[in-house]
Amino acid sequence: MPDRRSRGSTSGGAARTRRSKTPPPAELPDLSQYGRLAEYNRKRHFGVTPEPAAKIRTREAGHPLQFVIQKHRAGHLHYDFRLEHRGVMLSWAIPKGPSPDPAVKRLAMETEPHPLDYNQFEGVIPEGEYGGGTVMIWDKGVWAPATQHGLGDEDETERQYRKGDLKFVLLGEKVAGSWVLVRTGRERQWLLIKHRDEYTSNDDLTVTRPLSAVSGRTMAEIARAAGATPRQLQQAAATDPAMPAAPVEPPRKTSARGRPSHRPSRPA
Ligand code: MN
Repeated sequence: MPDRRSRGSTSGGAARTRRSKTPPPAELPDLSQYGRLAEYNRKRHFGVTPEPAAKIRTREAGHPLQFVIQKHRAGHLHYDFRLEHRGVMLSWAIPKGPSPDPAVKRLAMETEPHPLDYNQFEGVIPEGEYGGGTVMIWDKGVWAPATQHGLGDEDETERQYRKGDLKFVLLGEKVAGSWVLVRTGRERQWLLIKHRDEYTSNDDLTVTRPLSAVSGRTMAEIARAAGATPRQLQQAAATDPAMPAAPVEPPRKTSARGRPSHRPSRPA
């Protein structure tokens, strides 16, 4: 193996001054209290971005675990898939979104764990900030790790996650049933795959179910309401699938009355 240091020392060490981009240690905030959320905090300026600051929540054991999928038009469109585990949301960025077709494996890049409060975030991250762009809560619900004998607990999640073979069930409004995340040999790279069950389909849910699970809005509507820049608004709108022609103010649907609905009706 070549010794890199010898190259530097023989080619005139005086010209090669040590560069220090980082501020003195005294000015760095102590992030150790945030544990698994330190990376999340380090990447964000909470005076600028509307995203929530990190807080590890302790919830009593036995409560249903939350999952959320956030459609995010940052540098590139992707779907952030998050599973609650021990006070944080384990996170993966899925460029094409989840597929309910067992024959389709979707690339899922593991990203830094997010705070539970992030599950409620729908809006716009300012330009120039980490992940700048529009965020939609595309789906949400509850999840549990799965074993051969039924549902598992947090220890089971920990075991399967470390093994790189995390089996689970989802109960969301768009995605449901049995799934698996499998770690590939590459750094932070996983695959999300649907298991065969009654929730299997060939639908492209990103096209057939494009609206926010909490507000019923399009990406363009979210961007506009949150004061996106013209560029961000255009990028957000480009990710909305073409809608069938409809009047600007759609009439109230009377056929949906009496049906249970998880999402609030659109303001008139
Ligand atoms: Mn993202």
